[in-house]
Amino acid sequence: MTQKIQILPENLCNQIAAGEVIERPASVVKELLENSLDAGAGDIRVDVEKGGKRRILVVDDGDGMGRDDVFLCLERHATSKIRSDTDLFGLKTLGFRGEALPSIAAVSRLTVRSCSAAAPEGWEIYVEGGTVKRAGAAGLPRGTSMEVRDLFFNTPARRKFLRRDETELGHIGEVVTKLALAHPQVQFRLVHNGRSLLDVYRQNTLAERVGSLLGRPLVRELLPVEAQAPGGLKLRGLISQPAANRSSTSAVYTFINGRYVRDRVVQHALLEGYRHLLPNGRYPVVALFLEIDPALVDVNVHPTKHEVRFRDQRTVHDFIAATVRETLRPSGWLAASGEAGGDGGPEPEPEAPRQQAVGTPVGAAPQETVKKEDPRHRVREALFTYGRSHANPAAPVVVGRSQVQEDGAPFVFPTADSEEETGFFASLEIIGQYRNSYILCQDGNDLVLVDQHAAHERIGFERLKAQYHRGRVERQALLFPVTLEFDFRGAALLQEHLGDLERLGFDLEPFGGNTFALKAVPRLLGDAESERLIREVAEGLEKIGRRGPVEEALDDLFILMACHNVVRANQRLTLPEMAALLRELDRVDFSAHCPHGRPVMTRLPLGEVERMFKRS
Ligand code: ADP
Ligand code: MG
Repeated sequence: MTQKIQILPENLCNQIAAGEVIERPASVVKELLENSLDAGAGDIRVDVEKGGKRRILVVDDGDGMGRDDVFLCLERHATSKIRSDTDLFGLKTLGFRGEALPSIAAVSRLTVRSCSAAAPEGWEIYVEGGTVKRAGAAGLPRGTSMEVRDLFFNTPARRKFLRRDETELGHIGEVVTKLALAHPQVQFRLVHNGRSLLDVYRQNTLAERVGSLLGRPLVRELLPVEAQAPGGLKLRGLISQPAANRSSTSAVYTFINGRYVRDRVVQHALLEGYRHLLPNGRYPVVALFLEIDPALVDVNVHPTKHEVRFRDQRTVHDFIAATVRETLRPSGWLAASGEAGGDGGPEPEPEAPRQQAVGTPVGAAPQETVKKEDPRHRVREALFTYGRSHANPAAPVVVGRSQVQEDGAPFVFPTADSEEETGFFASLEIIGQYRNSYILCQDGNDLVLVDQHAAHERIGFERLKAQYHRGRVERQALLFPVTLEFDFRGAALLQEHLGDLERLGFDLEPFGGNTFALKAVPRLLGDAESERLIREVAEGLEKIGRRGPVEEALDDLFILMACHNVVRANQRLTLPEMAALLRELDRVDFSAHCPHGRPVMTRLPLGEVERMFKRS
């Protein structure tokens, strides 16, 4: 019998491996940069031509390689980074698979030049499609240079998949950005077709690095993160205040043990931390570094190491979400959420030293005149930030006489407007109502528009949430109990959740069969459409038991309840009613969005109005 099975030749194995690791020029740049960083380089230059398709040159000043290593590095599974399986679970380097160089060599024309500190001279070796063509000693400075020409020259099918130069260059830029963010102390330069695209010097802090990579003005909108949990979990980095949001996750940079990773668990946790603070479809700017015992995370689940697997996913998730939430809280956007009281409860204590955005404000008077310990600064800062990023960024935002409200008034519109009200919204000068839906106000020189429906929803949501978490949602007894008839499934569901419903402020009594008597509802809601609401709430409750985080499902319920009985658009409000609504806004929260993610307020600076009339 003839033998059918054969062991593949080494070079073919390398070409196959290259298919996994080397997808495009940017993958080459990533592998080469990681090697340079692992070699302890302090200065790395990346020089590419034609989007990296014609040539990629990476030069570093790292440890370099001696003669034997220059040859060995091209062998498959040849690595200096791990020796045994225990090393695999305690990785400290970016590379470890010993696959990159043989893969690159198999699909390009590669020249390796390297010199280690110990060696008297350097070595140069030229490989074409995986075959060594030339090698010899050469006078070289310490460090390594890798030159990759004509990527995929011998695999035309793959070459066809490459995109336009600009597209490939874009991917390369992303790779350099990610690695440069993780290594502020290393100098990175990127040159394309002889033109310098990026040149970041050695920097001391992440903030400086973020500034030079993503833009300096952005740094002022970032908050520092620094937290640790038992078991060696650590999170540090920078996250944006909610106002500095983006339309995609392209500025979300997350790293695990120094490695850029786009992980599902981490991303979810991050967005969980921002929940209700960003409009729908908007994302924060983030450079976050998670440190975790390497034994508790497996990075070897994907050849390009872009994915990981955590031993304890839940702990990591909750740690990140809570840290992000806590970091955002003092920034003012969350100032009163979860604690705000409108029912006589104590007002939240001013948070101990509020966090400063990392950058120094450039001559921005409103921020500078603010003293640190005063709780009302959160308000000013939040609104200042809001105004700066949502309106004309150049126009200074005047936030006058801001003060945090002390008393707790009922949620229903108070008719008296005589009390002295000095919160931001209360300080707005009301001009009137537009289309029975928007409250028009003047704030200094600016025109401010408040969406009455969104505002009311936000108020209701925060109040309900606060009351629920304090364990007493205020109820209002119905004058005439409402009898509600459900189908069999609905009745069973309600029966099961009577306790939960009670905590949410409903008094529902089984009345025999599939019938219930509704005797009281949350006071904030009034009795409008109680039947439909109770049905929807019951369905929501069902989800709590079945899926994901309870917090999330509960929030959905509060949203549902809050938007049930609010001031709708298209409702005429009197001047005192408008003033009362604004006062309520001061009391609950300073987030600029309703819980559905629509903005509550927007600002039109005088300059913009003047431009409309071609005055300036
Ligand atoms: P890995 O990084 O997984 O070890 P590579 O194929 O990327 O595998 O590299 C093989 C080996 O070559 C590395 O382990 C390292 O010893 C050496 N090497 C590669 N690039 C450099 C460099 N820029 N400086 C010093 N040594 C290098
Ligand atoms: Mg490597």
